[in-house]
Amino acid sequence: MSLPNIDSQALLDFLTQLLNTPSPTGFTEQAISLCEDFLSEWPELTLSRTNKGALVAQVSGTSDAPWRALTAHVDTLGAMVKDIKSNGRLKLTKLGGFAWNTVEGEGVTVFTREGKSIRGSILLTKASTHVHGGDVSKTDRNDDTMEVRLDANNAKETQALGINVGDFVAFDPRVEINHGFIRSRHLDDKACVACLLFALKSIKDVGLDLPATTILHISNYEEVGHGASAGIPSQVAELISVDMAAVGEGQSSDEFNTTLCVKDSGGPYHYGLSQRMRTLAEQHEIPYKVDIYPYYGSDGEAFWRAGGDVAVALIGPGVDASHSYERTHLDALLATTQWCMAYMLS
Ligand SMILES: [Zn+2]
Repeated sequence: MSLPNIDSQALLDFLTQLLNTPSPTGFTEQAISLCEDFLSEWPELTLSRTNKGALVAQVSGTSDAPWRALTAHVDTLGAMVKDIKSNGRLKLTKLGGFAWNTVEGEGVTVFTREGKSIRGSILLTKASTHVHGGDVSKTDRNDDTMEVRLDANNAKETQALGINVGDFVAFDPRVEINHGFIRSRHLDDKACVACLLFALKSIKDVGLDLPATTILHISNYEEVGHGASAGIPSQVAELISVDMAAVGEGQSSDEFNTTLCVKDSGGPYHYGLSQRMRTLAEQHEIPYKVDIYPYYGSDGEAFWRAGGDVAVALIGPGVDASHSYERTHLDALLATTQWCMAYMLS
């Protein structure tokens, strides 16, 4: 059986919209709602939210085969206001694991309690070369040496903007698409959310049914390690974690293929399910690589650690410069979407 076609332009349009919807971990309501609106096109799906805010879509299967689940996360790296300094600038605390130099100079939006969006930029506290000379390049980038410069001159003016300790801060994604390449922050893991949703859409658009009851789980706390630890129903026997593949020196993943990760920092994934995914990719001529990620954890492992008794496999598109200004290619997104479809239809 050949797989349904994917509307690539619609996938890229949705991905762009999702990337431009700020969703640092802990502040994901808007992005979850966007996914919920997308899925509400099919009234036969049962949509629900977990108490911690993840989105769960249940698609009934035509058989009583063991249930399956696929998960991807909408939460991203970001920050939170730690302190308002006397000069009106903001000290931040990180949300998720990244190096400060990867966001240096980036535009940010601070979300106030009253619902206002305040713009600023992330800079070194001693940023000017004309004032600090060689120290600018030598300074260690950390919570104390990085700050947000707002268009305010002192703490009073910053407070007058409505900013408080605990406000969420999102980094500008800077989405650009150029002959198939997609450059943006937070392709991890919004690229995979788009793949997952478009796998279902492409199947639904041609009127196909799924053989097994299938859960799509859109997680909202992955970057801090416990995203999919809840919200996977107990009937589920297999979980596919759909998340970015780590591209770089010594890695076999690239931006044009989808990847099966067989081991990461949390150890090996489920051998039987991983082998089945490989067989499916080969049957459908889906371009894929097999890789091992040295500094990486997934929502599949989060569910395992929470006691989930399921087989877990991890697939996803290669993403260059992950947790920095990332890049992937449409080819990898299409391959990942096809793989999700092949699994859902198998
Ligand atoms: Zn991720």
